[in-house]
Amino acid sequence: MKALVYHGPDQRSWDTVADPTIADPTDIVVRIDTSTICGSDLHILKGHVPETTPGTVLGHEAVGTVEEIGAGVTTVAAGDRVLLSCVTSCGRCRFCKEHRYGQCLGGGGWIFGHLIDGMQAEYARVPFADNSVYKIPEELSDEQVLFLADILPTAFEVGVLNGMVSPGDVVAIVGAGPVGLAAILTAKLYTPGRIVAIDLADTRLQSALRFGADVTINNGREDAVERIMEMTDGLGADVACEAVGVPATFELATELIRPGGRVANIGVHGQPATLHLEKLWIRDVTITTGLVDTYTIPQLLALVSNGRLDPTPFVTHRFALGDTMDAYDTFADAANTGALKVVLDGGQGTSESTRASGERVVVGAGIS
Ligand code: NAD
Ligand code: ZN
Repeated sequence: MKALVYHGPDQRSWDTVADPTIADPTDIVVRIDTSTICGSDLHILKGHVPETTPGTVLGHEAVGTVEEIGAGVTTVAAGDRVLLSCVTSCGRCRFCKEHRYGQCLGGGGWIFGHLIDGMQAEYARVPFADNSVYKIPEELSDEQVLFLADILPTAFEVGVLNGMVSPGDVVAIVGAGPVGLAAILTAKLYTPGRIVAIDLADTRLQSALRFGADVTINNGREDAVERIMEMTDGLGADVACEAVGVPATFELATELIRPGGRVANIGVHGQPATLHLEKLWIRDVTITTGLVDTYTIPQLLALVSNGRLDPTPFVTHRFALGDTMDAYDTFADAANTGALKVVLDGGQGTSESTRASGERVVVGAGIS
């Protein structure tokens, strides 16, 4: 089969590799119908994720069709259309029993395109399939559910739910990339009073408005803390979701929060950030951290099915799966291409793609 293979820092290619096969009785093999690229794939390609070894097929988000099941698999059958989560769950360890699948001790967690071959490929082997894939309602298209594999549950679980967004809250979202925008979409489920998006890039702030932000702040030009204080009678935001992953934005999130407020860190940090405990200790502030568990996928699927959540506006570009190399170039150059999420179409699924190579989609169409 064909697959996007990581060959070490700054090296990737579209290679012919061995077809995946059932290795354990709890495995399935899935034909990939629709896949996508994540910022984490770019981190791996920069060499920031040393545990990913050269030769690994990248990708951890996909919709596919079950081809073959292991002898121990009971809940899916060949021909079923399934969502493949970025996090795999053994279902048996202490953390899986707490729904903390990201912390799985039994061989699961974030393994796809990281520790084992992933889904930017024609086929993928999925371990612990009974606990790790989700059947997709027939009426939903691939593009309606694809982003439930990672960015939607990440933003919802680690941002909105950890931050306990409540009706009426002023919610500051620091960073309006795909994850920050997903935090805006899922925060809206709780009817916040105001959603404030903060980013250095005006294009991202324009996307934030289309996804439902009420106010935007470009913190390269404006003092974000001052603006938030002005709009909250000097108190600060009720909730801050950090969706960048650099020290400056974590520290900003802790500065713009009100006493008793919640800072939900989503960003993946590679460097130490300063925790200003000398200012925070007296302010009753809660700070949460987290790796996505994807335990909310069933809930998010129900919201999409019922028309309460529409993730399709994340799609800015579509490529045939065979053009994954070009798709990487477009995704990695988001500042110039305006890419949010690219869809890689295996040519089999129910994607709405026209399969034109590099087709650019009208950004934000359909967002009310
Ligand atoms: P992204 O790089 O596409 O977006 C980040 C945004 O932050 C960009 O729009 C950028 O302009 C903005 N930004 C950069 N520096 C800034 C600054 N100083 N002030 C304000 N804005 C700034 O990333 P993404 O894909 O949206 O992911 C966001 C973060 O979430 C990343 O750190 C990613 O690794 C992390 N993540 C975490 C989990 C988890 O389980 N916790 C899962 C997935 C992704
Ligand atoms: Zn486990």
